[in-house]
Amino acid sequence: MGLLEFDGEPLTWEKLKPYVEHVKTHGIQQFLHNYRRLMQRPGDILKWGDEVEYMIIKFDHTNRKVQLSLRGEELCEILQEKEKKKMKNLTSLWRPEYASYMVEGTPGVPYMGYMAQFNVVEANMKMRRKEVQELLNDDEQIVSLTVFPRLGCIDFTYPPHKITGPESNPVSRSLFFPDEAITSHPRFPLLTQNIRLRRGKKIAINIPIFKDTNTPSPFVENLNDPESKAAAKPDHIYMDCMGFGMGNSCLQLTFQACNVEEAKLLYDHLAPVCPIMLALSAASPLYKGYISDIDARWQVIAASVDDRTNEEMGNEPLKNNKHVIQKSRYDSIDSFLSSNSKIFNDINLEVDEEVKSTLLNAGIDDLLAQHIAHLWIRDPLTLFSKKIDLDDENEADHFENIQSTNWQSMRFKPPPPGSSIGWRVEFRVCEAQLTDFENAAFVVFIVLLTRVILTYKLDFLMPISKVDTNMEKSQKNNAILTEKFHFRKNVMTSQSPACCAQLCSFKSNCTEGSGKYLFNLSGVETVNHNLSECCSEMTIDTIINGKVCRGFNIYLSNTISVKTCLIIYKLTCFKLISLEKKLLYFGGEDEFPGFIPLIRRYLDSVEVGVEARCSISEYLNLIGKRASGEYMSAAQWIRHFVTSHPEYKHDSVVSDSIAYDLLVHCDQIEKG
Ligand code: ADP
Ligand code: MG
Ligand code: MG
Ligand code: MG
Ligand code: MG
Repeated sequence: MGLLEFDGEPLTWEKLKPYVEHVKTHGIQQFLHNYRRLMQRPGDILKWGDEVEYMIIKFDHTNRKVQLSLRGEELCEILQEKEKKKMKNLTSLWRPEYASYMVEGTPGVPYMGYMAQFNVVEANMKMRRKEVQELLNDDEQIVSLTVFPRLGCIDFTYPPHKITGPESNPVSRSLFFPDEAITSHPRFPLLTQNIRLRRGKKIAINIPIFKDTNTPSPFVENLNDPESKAAAKPDHIYMDCMGFGMGNSCLQLTFQACNVEEAKLLYDHLAPVCPIMLALSAASPLYKGYISDIDARWQVIAASVDDRTNEEMGNEPLKNNKHVIQKSRYDSIDSFLSSNSKIFNDINLEVDEEVKSTLLNAGIDDLLAQHIAHLWIRDPLTLFSKKIDLDDENEADHFENIQSTNWQSMRFKPPPPGSSIGWRVEFRVCEAQLTDFENAAFVVFIVLLTRVILTYKLDFLMPISKVDTNMEKSQKNNAILTEKFHFRKNVMTSQSPACCAQLCSFKSNCTEGSGKYLFNLSGVETVNHNLSECCSEMTIDTIINGKVCRGFNIYLSNTISVKTCLIIYKLTCFKLISLEKKLLYFGGEDEFPGFIPLIRRYLDSVEVGVEARCSISEYLNLIGKRASGEYMSAAQWIRHFVTSHPEYKHDSVVSDSIAYDLLVHCDQIEKG
């Protein structure tokens, strides 16, 4: 997103409503102009960059209290000075975020593909943190914390704002989160208000509470607002506005693909990786001063911007709205895009039929048309009076309006008009980690994974319904160690390098029919695999670190041909687990190569400087040990810190002084 400008009067929902179709129709025209111009865009290079969202906290050491300091906007103004002066080669770029205690920082210029960049990531994150810290007062601290533990508790902001009832906050009508904590650029309050108005009632977020020995049962909050009372569920932590979700921090990554087809591939194959990385990066067990029974923020933020009406929720017959919609506009993706993916799109996909046929008639392929038509079931939520009539050939604001308020796990980003930027995909699920080291580890890990996927032509496709199931699992308390996740069994494809040409000849024996799935190497031998048999349930440890039970390597030579291997394979029921150059590894049915071993193998085949290799090694070590349980996730660590705090009363409450100690501790960890 570029710098935010002033574009005239913000239109509230009643004023915006007459323009809904205008924005949607022109948004599609803008997409088409752009697509026609850029479809043939030739070979862009890999570029990528991270986004880290930070919070500013303020310590009151005398009273052992910690608050969120509402200085984000003021700081952002200063942090953006160099950019506004159009200075080049900046170290960092800064954006305001939803809450006025937040700022978002990215590297000043995107990183390029080569490996030497890998040891710059962490250094750049450190510089960003320092840049902000230098502007802060002695009692303030910048933190990359996903959720502030006492968000929404009395006086959680500095300066504090008193709330007496929903009327204290005309924008959100929250009982807990002051409108003053929403960034004042009109986009943010407008989004907040219009989501609420479109929905027809206040936001309601109910998260199961972690029941400890002294937690009241049932756990019921005392709420003096009838709307809240009706919306709050017993044994749940109740939250009532957008700030509880969008006021949380995350870590995102954007990659530029070499062309539109590669962008689709990355989008598709990274989607099944999202729940795995969400679980691994989970960092948010505490909400509104209570311990919850979840470890990750995803469902909180999804509910925090859920603008669906009663009709769209399926609670009333459709009258004013067109669709019953399964998910919030903030949720995991609903369809794959690349050409082989069709059979895995197994969930009900609501689409705007008119948009779909416009796109199909314009020559857009059916999967992309379906994707855009699905995004287009949502209405625009913001509009500014000076930005209504636009030049569809050269502007994309209406397209971006709907695109950028479909907050999905992956985002497919077309090139903006009039720029040198190519087709990009964004990986959006990771929670912010406390330290730059950890954030860098996640970033580098995911970037390397994209290289492995593309180089080895790996196939992670699986029924998208199973990706959804995994998303649910990934947020559970201690999911890394207690849950098993659906993942594709055979990630090697017939296009994976080495010896494949020969193996391909065996493929001709097979048919690819409806509900049949026969693409991968071992699939060659196992005709009639149905869709769900393509994956099995694995631990995160297996997915990340791999699992080797028993097996054997075969080196292909003139005397041992692929044919021989396949005969062995047939006789022993072993499957091809991995291949590299001419070395084939056959293993047992539940073996899996693992992301890290694949990455290591990839690293052996490319040139990486010693320094970069060392950092990468440390990052892989962290991710690997998180996956195996040797290291705790941030969420588990925070949980453990609170429950073992001497002042904790086993009542699920995170008091001011516990939160203070936690954040003092977090700060010390960050400083090493
Ligand atoms: P948004 O908030 O819309 O996701 P931002 O502009 O805040 O987007 O961040 C996008 C990220 O993409 C940044 O990390 C930036 O460095 C990176 N980036 C910028 N240009 C490119 C490009 N051409 N290709 C890939 N990544 C890019
Ligand atoms: Mg951004
Ligand atoms: Mg953003
Ligand atoms: Mg952001
Ligand atoms: Mg982003």
